[in-house]
Amino acid sequence: MSNDIARVTPLAPPARGRAATHIRAPSTRSPTLSRVLSRDVILKLECLQPSGSFKLRGVSYAMARAISRDGVTSFVSSSGGNAGLACAYAAEALGVSAEVFVPLTTPERTREMLRAFGASVVATGEKWIDAHEKATERCAEASDGEKRALIHPFEGEDLWLGHSTMIDELAEDFAKDNVGEPAAIVLSVGGGGLLAGVLLGVERAGWMKTRVVAVETIGAACLYESVRARTVVTLKEITSVAKSLGASSPSRVVFDKVMALGDARVASRVCEDADAVRACVRFADDHRLLVEPACGAALAACYFPELRLLEGLEGDGPIVVIVCGGAVVDRKSLDELERRALA
Ligand SMILES: *Cc1c(COP(=O)(O)O)cnc(C)c1O
Repeated sequence: MSNDIARVTPLAPPARGRAATHIRAPSTRSPTLSRVLSRDVILKLECLQPSGSFKLRGVSYAMARAISRDGVTSFVSSSGGNAGLACAYAAEALGVSAEVFVPLTTPERTREMLRAFGASVVATGEKWIDAHEKATERCAEASDGEKRALIHPFEGEDLWLGHSTMIDELAEDFAKDNVGEPAAIVLSVGGGGLLAGVLLGVERAGWMKTRVVAVETIGAACLYESVRARTVVTLKEITSVAKSLGASSPSRVVFDKVMALGDARVASRVCEDADAVRACVRFADDHRLLVEPACGAALAACYFPELRLLEGLEGDGPIVVIVCGGAVVDRKSLDELERRALA
């Protein structure tokens, strides 16, 4: 994982597309969370990205690079979640096509969203791995004049560079407001792509004292289990309701980076599903925004100090929460999750 910003070549404007892929998400102070933690808590509102999550940053950047570098004309995704939605949205913006292979368990609502973004949806197999195999085969098929590429949900330098721009924006905002470096940046971890991007951005900003707090839910904690075992482990099953954190192993590059930096710079932590869900509900009421339990894991670290996920921070800088978002949630499903969490 290099930190060579010189390699980030500016993107050519989309040839046939509709211009902007992602937005410069606002960073805004949370009055409620600042009260809970007795210091400034800044929300980076990636939930406002048009595809519903931060994934759009890295996915659209990786796609734009593949178009300009390799002449790719069609993208294939195997994600029935936010990576697939980002791929579909970015394809439309960049003027290329997208096919999203999803497992049969993918809710109709998500399939509708994918189609609304202009992607073709192929539902196949019971599990993600079945859809992933089909997607991989599709990329390898003898071409019909199309040049296809697979978009990975959490691996790849271009993906991470795209994600890292959220920290560039934060550093700009902090400099403008004359705020020093944050004491902590809190985020959630699935396979570790978001974490990789944030670490790149933190290095680039020169924030040497900032601690990145990487939160997973128990039942989807592949990074936490790997750090404990000091080797990359594969979870046998994902039992957490935070489906967007459901990678069975973390990215090896990210794991190595976390081990090299150590707990003071990157703290791997876990919370219960019920905490993540309760945090989503509180967040919805406080900020009038809906996010997935995957995002609730990071919010829980701030809403519930008794979990002690933010203990031992140095300095009195603000705490930043990456509100990574997630489109696979609505009022009904959050209500249902809350009922089950409280049961
Ligand atoms: C993908 C995703 C994550 C986890 O990101 P990784 O890059 O896999 O670690 C967290 N929250 C949401 C909403 C996501 O879509």
